[in-house]
Amino acid sequence: MRTVEQLSEDLGGLSGRTVLVRSDLNVPLDGSTITDDGRVRASVPTIDGLREQGARVVVCAHLGRPKGSPDPAYSLAPVAARLGELLEQDGRGGTVSFVEETVGERAAAAVAALDDGDVLVLENLRFHPGETAKADEDRADFARQLADLADAFVSDGFGVVHRAQASVYDVARLLPHAAGGLVRSEVEVMRALREDPQRPYAVVLGGAKVSDKLGVIESLISVADRLLVGGGMVFTFLKAQGHEVGTSLLEEDQVDTVKGYLDTAAERGVEIVLPTDIVVADAFSADAAHEVVAADAMPADRMGLDIGPDSQELFAQRLADARTVFWNGPMGAFEMAPFADGTRAVAAALVERTREGAMTVVGGGDSAAAVREFGYAEDDFGHISTGGGASLEYLEGKDLPGLSVLEDA
Ligand code: ADP
Ligand code: MG
Repeated sequence: MRTVEQLSEDLGGLSGRTVLVRSDLNVPLDGSTITDDGRVRASVPTIDGLREQGARVVVCAHLGRPKGSPDPAYSLAPVAARLGELLEQDGRGGTVSFVEETVGERAAAAVAALDDGDVLVLENLRFHPGETAKADEDRADFARQLADLADAFVSDGFGVVHRAQASVYDVARLLPHAAGGLVRSEVEVMRALREDPQRPYAVVLGGAKVSDKLGVIESLISVADRLLVGGGMVFTFLKAQGHEVGTSLLEEDQVDTVKGYLDTAAERGVEIVLPTDIVVADAFSADAAHEVVAADAMPADRMGLDIGPDSQELFAQRLADARTVFWNGPMGAFEMAPFADGTRAVAAALVERTREGAMTVVGGGDSAAAVREFGYAEDDFGHISTGGGASLEYLEGKDLPGLSVLEDA
């Protein structure tokens, strides 16, 4: 992958050049309040580096899942404001502005008004149907309009490099391009995990949907020494073992696949660690009545919302000698205080491993938000990835379109 330095050399410097940067600014919002600005912070160094070189920086990103047309609930305006605050903290000068359009006359005028060192944030890319269009020509058409705004492209949104979308993939084919520092550092960490993890290598998986993570489970069974499973996906595992899971999240159509994984893991000597107790509640709500039950004795009318205290101890114990830990997906519905303890326990176990010199990686938007909410700092972990799906697909060994498109200079 070409670096920004190489791109700059190719173009005879970046001063006065307009550089389109694809960032990942997909942050959790409560109304228009950002509840975790980790991704915005992670985007700053690349943008800052470009404007330091005198580039005119046009930042593009998506937020949430609007349906291909403008929807004020998903406006990037509050995120652009936060980015502006962070960029202004370094006192480098230059303006940071926002335009309520992705491509079009207003966007073009705003780009034309930029001075060297200025930053412009475009409106949510997914307000335009071309961004995620299935038809190649629709995506290419939107990418062409984005490319027309700039002289070069820097791909820095690691969280989206597994998507063949207009601003990630198609636009890189139209402009001189480079991988930004964030993408490069994320790839470096993930490559080490994929190619040469120190052992024992333990992987903790949680989160809502098994089907999102099936591919990675399958490939990790041949790479990791231990797989610890919690979160909403665990109920498909418990069901595969023949247990009652009540009204918990369950992907009935994945039960057989999961049975197959349990068999394969047993054959290969990979240890699968499942919770022994579960916090069950009578509703998906912070004030629902809840109690701890054995994982093989869940009442039919309750839903599992976290792993229980015995499981927290078990998970900590199965992580205690790991030299490498990769964690993706919360152990429970941690957004609600009564169901956050399992996630908190896993976070604490990783922090402990980091202190003892193990390599620890947290991947996934919600997992990263959880560890920050618990008050941990970036350096309590070896690496906090900005990308959930992307890091999982990379670990699976998949070809990520947003990375491979950067290979051919
Ligand atoms: P990440 O963003 O870290 O990759 P996911 O998006 O896969 O994680 O999953 C996060 C979501 O999973 C959280 O919103 C959390 O509330 C939910 N979750 C975890 N455990 C459960 C559970 N037992 N029941 C329902 N939802 C759960
Ligand atoms: Mg998530």
